[in-house]
Amino acid sequence: MSKVLLVSDIHANLVALDAVLKDASVHTDFQAVWSLGDAVGYGPRPNECLSRLAELDARSVVGNHELAAVGEISLDEFNPYARAAAEWTGGVLDEVSRLYIASLPRTEVIGDFTLVHGSPADPVWEYITDPLIAVRNLEHFDTAVCVCGHTHVPIAFGFSPENISTERSEPGSTVSIKDGRWLVNPGSVGQPRDGDPRASYAILDRDEMRVTFHRIEYNIEEVQRQMMEIGLPAMLIARLAIGQ
Ligand code: ZN
Repeated sequence: MSKVLLVSDIHANLVALDAVLKDASVHTDFQAVWSLGDAVGYGPRPNECLSRLAELDARSVVGNHELAAVGEISLDEFNPYARAAAEWTGGVLDEVSRLYIASLPRTEVIGDFTLVHGSPADPVWEYITDPLIAVRNLEHFDTAVCVCGHTHVPIAFGFSPENISTERSEPGSTVSIKDGRWLVNPGSVGQPRDGDPRASYAILDRDEMRVTFHRIEYNIEEVQRQMMEIGLPAMLIARLAIGQ
């Protein structure tokens, strides 16, 4: 289980997820998939994305959008677009998907890695957007590395006694996580927000302790067509094309 495909914030975008799975298998023979939450919400194919993760036997944690769709958390914290999508998602989730979501932990520890959606301190809501928030979180997990999602921006924060580093994760770049402690976010498969609309993911090499970031184009127009057919908010449809 040395090579792991890291995915997060798939957001019911099956076209993007399948593009990532195909591209990842070209780059590497990954043996495991770890999903960092928000596999549903915003997008048009929630049941299909969850069943794809189940087929892959992915290790997954739950995100705020899963919890909202099954009524575990209130929609008050959601903006009107996210709320409309969460209500639609809640209405179409089938029984298998609901059972799958109910089985997901908020925090998972696998060897040297802690998996969460938001942050170790607040797995559901906190966004780790800068090194200060990252450093505050170091005392909230015991492993060397935390992998997280939620911001939809690929990034790696590294900490050693002498140094804090922020790796901006250009596509194709590799970050060594051998020394010190790290928080790594593979970015969003289904709704990137760093200005690059391509699907984002990362490959973790557990033997070498390094992470490689990747981007792959997918058929955005097809997903937008699916969303229009359902009647999801126009803002959510438009943002896919600009990666914001
Ligand atoms: Zn998300």
